[in-house]
Amino acid sequence: MASAPLISQALDEVRERIADDRVEILIATKYLPVEGLATLHEAGVTLIGENRAQDLQVKHAAHGERFVFDFIGHLQSRKVRQIVPLVRRIHSLASDSAAEQLARHGRPDLEVLVEVNVAGQEGKSGLAPEELDAFVDRLRAGGGCTPVGLMTMPPQADDSEHSRRWFAALRELAAARDLPHLSMGTSQDFEVAAQEGATIVRIGSRILSPRG
Ligand SMILES: *Cc1c(COP(=O)(O)O)cnc(C)c1O
Repeated sequence: MASAPLISQALDEVRERIADDRVEILIATKYLPVEGLATLHEAGVTLIGENRAQDLQVKHAAHGERFVFDFIGHLQSRKVRQIVPLVRRIHSLASDSAAEQLARHGRPDLEVLVEVNVAGQEGKSGLAPEELDAFVDRLRAGGGCTPVGLMTMPPQADDSEHSRRWFAALRELAAARDLPHLSMGTSQDFEVAAQEGATIVRIGSRILSPRG
């Protein structure tokens, strides 16, 4: 991984390109072992996102005081109970079975974003846009979380401009439901995502191995 000064510089560059301090920059740390987190702290990182319950537990146990943790990975229903006490937000809620576990083991102040498969890609996680209303209603009725936004991973593209329409579509879906948060944009396309209204971008490689 890069040194703290390089990470800090990469973070500054991302902030400058976003040019809106209200956009949160979450650092995706799935490829970073727990030993790397001290360097992130030194570099000024405060918000990190984990993809796996087990990694989250290990990193939270070691650094729970230094960072706010969000969960951004595929959410298995049998892991919900472990994840809930450790995170501020879950970005990737996308199944009825996970929603049921949240109703049972969640907490009212746990903020969740619903993952949407905006491009209707086969085999990708995320709800279809037409499933959203019923799903959000069930979450609200369940009481184990507060739905606050939507998240998406657009189709892989060489040109970040190709992601723009999917980010715009997510923004419209969220606005129509009064959901204030939009988690969208990664190393490849965070700038376009921010232009289209992202409130949280999720960045890994560009910060952790800048120019690498
Ligand atoms: C890894 C990951 C990211 C960050 O991707 P980079 O291309 O490394 O910036 C963002 N979101 C999710 C859900 C991820 O798993």
